[in-house]
Order: sequence, then structure tokens, then C-alpha cells
Amino acid sequence: MGERKGTNKYYPPDYDPKAGGLNKFLGTHALRERARKIHLGIIIVRFEMPYNIWCEGCNNHIGMGVRYNAEKTKIGMYYTTPLYQFKMKCHLCDNHIVIKTDPGNLEYVIVSGARRQENRWDPTQNEQVVPETKETQKRMFDDSMFKLEHGSEDKNSYESSKPRLIQLFNRNEEKWSDDYSANQRLRQIFRKQNSELKRSESQDSALLKRVSLSIPLLAETEEDKKMASLLSQKLKPMKSVGENRDLVRKRIISSSSLPTANFSTTKELKAVKILNNSAKKDLGIVKKSSTCVQPETKKARLSNSLVGAYGSGSDSD
Ligand SMILES: [Zn+2]
Repeated sequence: MGERKGTNKYYPPDYDPKAGGLNKFLGTHALRERARKIHLGIIIVRFEMPYNIWCEGCNNHIGMGVRYNAEKTKIGMYYTTPLYQFKMKCHLCDNHIVIKTDPGNLEYVIVSGARRQENRWDPTQNEQVVPETKETQKRMFDDSMFKLEHGSEDKNSYESSKPRLIQLFNRNEEKWSDDYSANQRLRQIFRKQNSELKRSESQDSALLKRVSLSIPLLAETEEDKKMASLLSQKLKPMKSVGENRDLVRKRIISSSSLPTANFSTTKELKAVKILNNSAKKDLGIVKKSSTCVQPETKKARLSNSLVGAYGSGSDSD
């Protein structure tokens, strides 16, 4: 729109031809808004991304052909060709991308704010057919010897790649000659996959019904299984230190010290229980007797000593 305004044919009634052109009379630039930074040597143009890049501000991929309003400035000369630089803001973040022209290599070079996705390769490396350059074509036209050599080289390369081509052709023939059996194989694989899918689906739906949830379930992995087993172990009730100690003791007592012992473990455990009980009983008796006897003996001893003392006292008195 802005560009068109400068070129339309409407002349206002107070237009004075002495002012020069229509733009001069109106005090505007022919490019209107696009020339708003013209005093800084900047013109705003529509710039199309020449290749795939990654923005360094947001790390987003920006595809080839995305268009931006870019500030175009002239930064120098390559012989007689001007070098231009384009500065534009990423449409996904506040980062500015700067790209300049490189006439020497017929390329655009990223100055800052982005990384190029490297899609360049030498087509001869993966044995692509490359059209002849203009130089070779010219030389073939002028130099008949060169033309002959070039032709024989081409023939050689064809001869060397012939067996591989035949191999590939045969492989294709083998694979696709019997399309009936190929189709059968494919359907067999598909049937197997389908039944597996159905089975897992029914399992999932049963599980979801049991826990009354309605969320999509992902496929089970080995890592999930491991994690679940570890969690279930952790959730098992832990035994106290005392219980563990008792268990170890019981195991030590019940295990026979002699290798030839032919006891059954239940018999052994019974014997151990009886032994334990009897030992406890004995201890109780001893304790009882000690608690009963000791004070008596002490008393007796005291009384004896007292009696003795009195006796002795009386004796002495
Ligand atoms: Zn960005």
C-alpha cells in the first residue's frame, strides 16, 4: 500500500509544481513506512530466509522461506558489488538475527543470532550424477583430446558400476517377482501385530476399570517393571531389630553343629522351645529364691550381729 501511494496520480488542488515531485510537495518518501529509518542508511525490506536455521535466542527451528521485515543496510563492497546486511527480529522471541550477503561464494552468511542447519554436501561423494560445469563444457567443445579422455572416463565409471546395478536389479526382482507370497507374509505380520494390540488393549481397559480411571496408558517397559518391583519391596512391612535378632538366633540354634545330625527341624525347634522354657523357669526360681532368701539372710545376719552385739554388750556389761 505504502509503495503505491507515491506513484498514484492524485494531485491535490493546492499542488505547486515548483516544489518538484508530488513526494517532495507532500514531504514524504516514495517508500513511505519502509523508509522511516532512511536517515540511518536503513531501508526496510521483506527478507526470505535462504536456508534452515536455528534461532540462538529460543533454539527454535526456522525453516527456509520464512519471511521477515528486515532492516537492510549496505556494509561494504566486493569489487563492484555492494555487500548488504539484513537484521530481523525472530518471530518467536526477542532475539535479532543478522545475515549478510557473500557475493564471492554466491551465499548468505549468518553474522549473529542464529546457527545454520548444515544441509550442504558434495553430490559426488554419494555418487550422484552431477551436471558438467560450464568450464568443462567449454573445454570439451575446444579440446578434442580432452573430450576423448572425458568420454572414456565416463565409459569406465559405467563399466565399474555395472555389476552393482545388476545386483540391485536382481534383488528387486527377487523381492517383488512373487507378489502373492510377499503380500501373504505382510498380512501374516500384520495379523500378529493386530492380535497383540487387541490383547494389550483389553488388558489396559481391564486395569483402568479396576482402578476406575479414564486416562490413556503407555506401553509397559522393562524399566517400569523394575521400578514397580523396587517400590513394592519398599512398601513391605519392615521387621524390628529385635525381631530380626530373634530370627537369627533361632536359625543359629536350629541349625545342627554336627554335619551327621539327622534331626528334623520341627523336632529340633520343639527341643529348643522346651530347653528355653526350662531355662526361664530355672531362672525364675533362682530369682525368686534370691529375692526371698536374701533379705532373710540379711535380716538374720543383722539380727545375729545385733544379738551378738547385745549379747556381747550384755556380756561386757
Ligand atoms: Zn527465536
